[in-house]
Parts: sequence; structure tokens; C-alpha cells
Amino acid sequence: MEGNKNTFNRRDFLTMGSLSLGAIGMADFSFATTGAGLHTNRKKIIIPTVTGYVTPDKLGTTLMHEHILWFSGTTNENPGYMPIPDDLQDQSVDFAVSALNDAARVGIDTVVDLTPHRSIDLYKRIAEQTTVNIIVSTGFYRRSKIPQWMAEMEDEKQMEELMRKEVTDGIDGTKIKAGIIKVANEGGQLTDWEKKVFRAAARVNKSTGVPIATHTGSPMEQFDLLLKSGANPHQVFLSHVDVGRKGKPGDLLNVVKEGGYLQVDTFGQEFYTPQKELVSFLRSFFDAGYGNRVFISIDSNWHWENGKKIFEGAGPPNFDPNAANRLFAYMITDAVPMLLKSGFSMKEINTFLTDNPRNFFKRIK
Ligand SMILES: [Zn+2]
Repeated sequence: MEGNKNTFNRRDFLTMGSLSLGAIGMADFSFATTGAGLHTNRKKIIIPTVTGYVTPDKLGTTLMHEHILWFSGTTNENPGYMPIPDDLQDQSVDFAVSALNDAARVGIDTVVDLTPHRSIDLYKRIAEQTTVNIIVSTGFYRRSKIPQWMAEMEDEKQMEELMRKEVTDGIDGTKIKAGIIKVANEGGQLTDWEKKVFRAAARVNKSTGVPIATHTGSPMEQFDLLLKSGANPHQVFLSHVDVGRKGKPGDLLNVVKEGGYLQVDTFGQEFYTPQKELVSFLRSFFDAGYGNRVFISIDSNWHWENGKKIFEGAGPPNFDPNAANRLFAYMITDAVPMLLKSGFSMKEINTFLTDNPRNFFKRIK
């Protein structure tokens, strides 16, 4: 276990404790036969994945905030965003499949993808080659980093209809539905445009029951606006909330007290959050009785630049030598051992990775 990534596998993990990893497999999948399925069918909550539906009980070990594919580089016409070039698509699919299969080998069952503007065809190709459940998102990332046609959308109703269509009918003419709504703000206060996105997302959540995940620049403002606009607090989670907190939850305790969820993903990224602070931040929620309101994930993301894969943190100003290792499996090979060493029990880790995602999708209050 001592940092030896190559030999740490699912079996080692299982023998370490009582973490109840869900079975890897596709036994519970049933394909949608009509396009009419909402997030629920009266009695049973079902969650759409790229290859079918899954019930919350079958989610297993779940990473709630990941990016299977990310956009690529920048262009003058569209600063901040460029789709994956045609000639790199096959390689992108192969790399994503290998990362997901590595994740499956160490016991990860489900990955929630929070890239809300992607080629669904590539995701379909990827999902067909792995046992990991992939839940995709609709919504809007930061305005500076999304396709131009989305960034130029000004009509709140139109934003709402786009998200509603992707959770109820399907994405880009397919029957693949989004199982979660992703919204974001650049940092600081929400802009007027971002407020429209958040209000629209809240209305879609209210009418469909599909949950919301945010990229957080202004967590309290985000949470308040979502609730004020009709979102269910038990179906909202705010990401990256440990950054800049010096290990203290502060006003974020109000979010969990109101039933919201928080998500932490800076494992191995000392430049974002010193790992000691990350540990005390997580511990503080258990101490306050809200360990059941926190997710842990990797927020793995990489993109192509001049034909090379660039991993977040690998470039200036951070130069993190570990950046390329931070794919989905990193949760089990590195983050979990770090948490165990820092005093977390397997039961607590299981709460983060399995119980909380299941309860979130099950809408348990
Ligand atoms: Zn992310």
C-alpha cells in the first residue's frame, strides 16, 4: 500500500476492511424502450446511464464529480473551448476506456460525468467498452469555457428547455438522458447570465426530480439562489468547497444543515488544498454530525494540447508531478489509503463513496 500504485488492486482494497463495494457488472441494466421515462417511474427511482438505467441501490462505489472527456485547447473564435479534434477521437475513447477499466479493477462501480457539453457519441462508444456505470449531465459550465452557441444563449426559458429536453427526451437526438444537471459560476458573485442558468436549473430539478451539481465559485449564493428558485435542497451538491477554507467548514455547515451536499476533490493537489487541511475539513463534517452530506471524488480532467494530453496541475504554475496519475482509480489507490492513514475508518469512507451517493439519488432526507 505504501504508495505502490502498481500492485494495489481491488483485492487488496477489499481485504483492508469492510467497505461494501457494489458488484461490478451490468446485471441490473434494463434498456429504455420508450423515450418517455423521467427520472422516476412512480414507485422506483431509476437513474439513466449511457447504456441503460440503474437503481440507486446498484450504484455501488461512486465518484460524483468526474470528467470522462473534456474539451480541448482554445481557438481565437472561441477562447476557452474547442471540441476534441476528429483525428484524436479514437485515442480519446481508448484512453477513457482504459481509465474506466482501471477504475473498475479497483472497485469503482459508477462515475458521474459533469461535462455538460460533450459528444454523446463518443460517450456511447466508451460506455460500451466498460462495466462502469456512466451517468452524464446536462447544463452549463463556466461561460468562458463552453461552446459559443451556449455562451451566447440569453433567454432563460431557452436554457431551461435545453436542460429539460436532455433529462426527459435525450441528448443530441439519442435516447441517452442526462441523470444530473451541472451549473457553474466563474468565481466571486454570480453574474446575471449565471443567475439565469441557476434559476432555469432549479426549475428543471423541481419538475423532473433530476438533481443538480455545481462548480462552485460562490457556494452560499449558489445554494440560496437554487433553493429560492425551487430546487430541492436534498438534491443539490456544491463542488470544490474545501478550496481556500483552511480546513474549516465555516458557513458551509448551513448548507448541510439545510439538507444540501458538499463535494471535495483536491486529493493529491497540495497546490489547491494542503492535504492536512483537506483531512480536517472532511473530519469536521463527521464531528458536526454531517458526514452523511459529503461526497469525495477526483474531478479527473485532461485535454489535448498540440497532440499531447495535458492533466490539470501538470502545467504552470503548479507542476504537480503526480497530476497524470489522478484518474478515477486514484481514489482507491491513493486518496483512500491517505484517508485511512489520517484516521478515517472504512465505514466513514464507505459513507462518502457509497452510502451518500445512493441516498442522494434516492432522495433520502
Ligand atoms: Zn469538474
